[in-house]
Amino acid sequence: MDKAQDRKAWSLRGIIPENHPRRESLLIREKVVEGMMENVVVPQGLIAQGRGECFDYLLGERTQDFALRAIEVSAAMLVTAKSPVISVNGNMAALAAHEIVDLAKSIPAKLEVNLFYRDEERERAIERKLREAGAEEVLGVGKNASETIPELFSERRRVSKEGIYSADVVLLGLEDGDRTEALVRLQKKVIAIDLNPLSRTSLTATVTIVDNVVRAIPELKKKVQDVRNKDREELERLIKGFHNRDNLRSALRYMSERLAQLSLTL
Ligand code: ATP
Ligand code: MG
Repeated sequence: MDKAQDRKAWSLRGIIPENHPRRESLLIREKVVEGMMENVVVPQGLIAQGRGECFDYLLGERTQDFALRAIEVSAAMLVTAKSPVISVNGNMAALAAHEIVDLAKSIPAKLEVNLFYRDEERERAIERKLREAGAEEVLGVGKNASETIPELFSERRRVSKEGIYSADVVLLGLEDGDRTEALVRLQKKVIAIDLNPLSRTSLTATVTIVDNVVRAIPELKKKVQDVRNKDREELERLIKGFHNRDNLRSALRYMSERLAQLSLTL
């Protein structure tokens, strides 16, 4: 048994008790660890997950109303887009490969591997994971990422010509702030899934879904099916009526009110 299989067996043997209060969260964490064993996730990805977990704790580990509203607007943006692309990194692939592929098919949108820590072997590992989950086309791997997008602090990002480079709407999760800013500067509409309402990605994106990717992506697929039957004008009104900063304020207010309530229970 290789290390990755051994790790899977370890988690399946029921190390985490059924009644553990953080069971769901710990099982999600295991998926990211397994992703690292498969060379899909980098060590820094584990730390990013930890930062996210902290905010998810404050959200009560549920998709809250402000996230549902952002998800509905995102669905409207995705179905009315000319060329929507889902940008996939290691953590996203480890956490929700099947859900991402299902979502891409239902829009339909292209899938592109886009990594902060670029490495062709890892790109191929992520591509494999997406193909195993049913993807037929995966952009951004190796030579396919032939175009460059200037970024401020990180090295120049390479993207696919027929993918992110020519997209009008890009959906991403757990993305770095500089990279999100670079896409917004190129006039792309960016939908970000990010548990931290204060991250630069959350503040810069066109629409921020403050929720865990494991819950937000299946919910987004449901909403895509709902909004598809609405007429275009209605969808455009929905998009126009959304103000990301207001929605982020609601997320922050929710977290602070929840903390205040919890303080009364101690
Ligand atoms: P920024 O660069 O946008 O200021 P950051 O430097 O704080 O953000 P990064 O490591 O660049 O953080 O990005 C990871 C982001 O993803 C964090 O905001 C983290 O809260 C969020 N995150 C981690 N795990 C999840 C998850 N499972 N679902 C959604 N968001 C997550
Ligand atoms: Mg960052």
